[in-house]
Amino acid sequence: MKDDFGLPYIGTGDLLRKHKDDGTELGREAGGYMEKGDLVPDGLVIRMILEEVEEKGDDGFLLDGYPRSAGQAEALADALEENGRHLTAALLIEADDETVIRRLSGRRQCIKSGHLYHVDFDPPKNEDGYCDIDGTRLFQREDDKPDTIRKRLATYHDKTEPLIDYYEERGLLRRFDGTREPNVVHGHVRATLATLRLEERL
Ligand code: AMP
Repeated sequence: MKDDFGLPYIGTGDLLRKHKDDGTELGREAGGYMEKGDLVPDGLVIRMILEEVEEKGDDGFLLDGYPRSAGQAEALADALEENGRHLTAALLIEADDETVIRRLSGRRQCIKSGHLYHVDFDPPKNEDGYCDIDGTRLFQREDDKPDTIRKRLATYHDKTEPLIDYYEERGLLRRFDGTREPNVVHGHVRATLATLRLEERL
C-alpha cells in the first residue's frame, strides 16, 4: 500500500519493537506488555503515534495497528481536528480466530531485515530456516507463540473490536475479507483506496 500510494507507513508494532531493540525508555516500558500480549498503555502509544503523524504525515499517512482502543481513536480524531484534518477511512481486514492463529503461529522473519515467511504458506525456497534474500536465520516473534496469540486475540475482542461500531457510526469503515489470498486482499484494498483518493484527492 505504501508503494502503491506513496504514503508514509506508520506501523505501531514495528515502532514499538524498534524502541525495544534500541533500549529506549519507551521500549523498556512497552516490552513487558508486548511479551504478554497486552496492549501498551494508551498514554505511551498515543504520544508516539501523534509525533510520527506530525513528523511524516503532512500529505497523508497509513496507520497499521493503531488505534486499538477507544481512547486511542478519540485522541487521533482530536489531534487531526485541531489541525482541520480528518481520517479518510478505517480499513477492517476480517479473519476468524482460527485463521489468525494459523497465520501468526507459522510466521517467521529474518534477523537482518525482518523479511517475512510462513512455515506452511510461504516457506523459504533455498534453505529451511534461512532467509532467501539475506541468508540470515529466521526467528519466531515471542508473541507469535500460541498462548500469547490467544491472549492477543482476547485483548482484540475486548478492547479493539468495539472500534468497528465507532468507525461504522462515523461512515468511515471499509470491510475486507481477510481470509482470501494476500494478493486478492491487496487488490480489494487498493481499489478502495484508489476510489477514496479520487474522491478526496488524497
Ligand atoms: P503488532 O505487531 O501490531 O501485532 O503489535 C505487537 C504488540 O505491540 C501488541 O500485541 C501490543 O502489545 C503492542 N501494540 C501495537 N500496537 C498497539 C497499540 N495501538 N496500542 C497498544 N499496544 C500496541
